[in-house]
Amino acid sequence: TDKPVTVLIPGRIHPRVLERLGKDFDVVSVPTQGGELGLDEATRNKVRAVALFGTLQKPWMDLLPNLEIVSNFGVGYDGVDAAYAATKNIIVTHTPDVLNDEVADTTIGLLLNTVRRLPPAEDWLRSGRWKSDGPFALSPLSLKGRHVGLLGLGRIGLEIAQRLEAFKLKISYHTRTPRTDVSYTHFASLKEMAEAVDTLICIVPGTAATHKIINADILSALGPNGVFINVGRGSSVDEEALEAALRNGTIAAAGLDVFYEEPTTASNFLDLDNASLLPHVASASVPTRNAMADLVVDNLIRWFDEKKVYTPVPETPVKG
Ligand code: NDP
Repeated sequence: TDKPVTVLIPGRIHPRVLERLGKDFDVVSVPTQGGELGLDEATRNKVRAVALFGTLQKPWMDLLPNLEIVSNFGVGYDGVDAAYAATKNIIVTHTPDVLNDEVADTTIGLLLNTVRRLPPAEDWLRSGRWKSDGPFALSPLSLKGRHVGLLGLGRIGLEIAQRLEAFKLKISYHTRTPRTDVSYTHFASLKEMAEAVDTLICIVPGTAATHKIINADILSALGPNGVFINVGRGSSVDEEALEAALRNGTIAAAGLDVFYEEPTTASNFLDLDNASLLPHVASASVPTRNAMADLVVDNLIRWFDEKKVYTPVPETPVKG
């Protein structure tokens, strides 16, 4: 029989990935701190796959001459340079769709937390202040009657929009290409959408084209009643501009699940009581993370069984 295929795991990954891979593959784990791939040449030559949660250093692809596939845990694959992988005939897969509902549900929760200040209201109760000081302050903002602009209306954005319809909110969106299957108003310009709406939800991938797309200009267009929610990637935000906008009332409030550098830059928002903050948990339930883990492993198993995968990224298409 053939020797088992060697799969490299840089850093941490969901335990279910390790458990399932352990049955069919030879698993090699390496730390990612320091950025050096500390493997001898014989081991590097054996590696034919990477299972990834986070970042794969681009030079590591050059150090693994027999690498065929990178199976990314998460639908967002900004941690791996897929265009570069394509030039080396390395397939990249990700985990779309299985997390759509979870992420959309979390987005609605974060939006409500931000607008109605529910986490500080709970803190008020838990710290005994309801008893000692009386009712919690009324929230200055309400969700009622808002006009939401979605930056991104893909798999997850559409689920968010459908949930917002139940809240009787007006919905618009900005993408590069309008969808033909929705009746929401499309804005070709993000700036014009930000001027028209009072609530902006970011659910685009972290790419060169979306890098710091949310800047001072967009935030001032959103305006003083404006609420900004980010469940896409922190790299899409000029965080200095956002912090300033929250401090000086350029916008009213923000709800953030993602940050420019995680976890470090989240600290810049800690003293702002018009920011609602989450530690990148939009998909982070046990059932949804299990489904993502299974898709990471299933893509690898299928690749080495039949040279097909379930969910390649668009940069590295392969027939499923
Ligand atoms: P899709 O690829 O299905 O949708 C992406 C959407 O963004 C499309 O509507 C696309 O439209 C739009 N878009 C892409 N680039 C631009 C651009 N430059 N300007 C304007 N619009 C753009 O992705 P998903 O909905 O599955 O996921 C979206 C992202 O959400 C992921 O890539 C990930 O980064 C993030 N995410 C975050 C999570 C979290 O834990 N917080 C969990 C899951 C996902 P068009 O191409 O027409 O422009």
